[in-house]
Amino acid sequence: MHPAARLDTLGTEQAYVVLAAARRLEAAGHKVVHLEIGEPDMPTPPHVVEAGVRALRDGLTRYALAAGVPELREAIARSLAARGVRAGPDNVVVTPGAKPMLFCAALALIEPGADVLTPDPGFPIYESVIRFVGGRPVYYPLDETRDFAPDVAALARRITPRTRVLILNLPHNPTGGVASTRDLEALAELALRHDLWVISDEVYGQIRYDGRRDSIAALPGMAERTVIVDGFSKGYSMTGWRLGFGVMPASLTGAMTTLLINNVSCTATFVQYAGVAALTGSQEPVVRMVAGLKLKRDQLARGLNAIDGVRCATPAGAFYCFPDIGGVLERTALSCEAFAERLLAEQHVAVLAGTAFGPGGAGHLRMCYATEPAELERALGALRRFVGKLAPVPAA
Ligand code: PLP
Repeated sequence: MHPAARLDTLGTEQAYVVLAAARRLEAAGHKVVHLEIGEPDMPTPPHVVEAGVRALRDGLTRYALAAGVPELREAIARSLAARGVRAGPDNVVVTPGAKPMLFCAALALIEPGADVLTPDPGFPIYESVIRFVGGRPVYYPLDETRDFAPDVAALARRITPRTRVLILNLPHNPTGGVASTRDLEALAELALRHDLWVISDEVYGQIRYDGRRDSIAALPGMAERTVIVDGFSKGYSMTGWRLGFGVMPASLTGAMTTLLINNVSCTATFVQYAGVAALTGSQEPVVRMVAGLKLKRDQLARGLNAIDGVRCATPAGAFYCFPDIGGVLERTALSCEAFAERLLAEQHVAVLAGTAFGPGGAGHLRMCYATEPAELERALGALRRFVGKLAPVPAA
């Protein structure tokens, strides 16, 4: 018996493969430093947990409206003002995490045969879902000399009459890059000129070290052609609760809700009330988490830059460093995949090879720094030892 052939087009996330390898080492008695999985290490804020538990006790355990409970859709709509987006509850659809909204947006917007602009390196699920729905991923590069902001000129050169959708992810996984206001305006101008939909993945929007919040959907004419994909996983440390949402033109919410009725019916009702508490309660835990992450970012970037052959930009958002280890790879003739594999096997530090995010990630590693400073110090010490031990290839 074989599953349907369409499953062959699906990709996956390397993070889960590396996590499984790290868990095997732990089962064999080794202590592993985990910098592979992208999730905050702060617990879910207590008032959010309390709201979820209260909702359970109050019997909010039945089906909810497919598009989400009105209180949450209202709270999400109001929260969008912080990024300059004007929307009402009719523009919001709630999902069990941001990923299902990404999947639904791809199903709703990408015609078979359409070209879809997607970042390289980028979150691997973009390419996977584009291919799954019959689209053609067209990679656009990020400008490393501008701390991984999208390279707007290079992106414009890749637009053809078949291009229908542009995927943006700001702040960006895996590089932590953001876009300047001018970049966003230029991207919006391209979307308007070429009549593109924009899928704007803003799941790291609250984790920005310059204190800014923005969205391409806030620019003139863009709300009508943008689906914001967002959720509670990263900003409120709610990865296991599974709560996300999309913001879109009201004309699209009906079709999107029908998609949900066909697969999940609705998002867990009590979880949605925890989401209301997250948005309407104190934002102090988020502010505290971002301040802590900033210190960890600086610690890791500083330590990486002190290693010969490693260069690390200071990311403006998210919780990843994306160091260029080209100097080390050149003198040892290793690939970044082999480097990451050996770092785990020999030093028990789990990181991802940059190529887990596409060919544009070659020569890099992705390291999630949302962990204890002592763990980061251990990882840096192991990395220094490992790089010091690697034998240089003899000169020809
Ligand atoms: N988008 C990006 C860029 C991510 O990095 C992730 C999670 O790693 C998601 C979406 C999915 O988030 P959620 O846990 O809300 O499904």
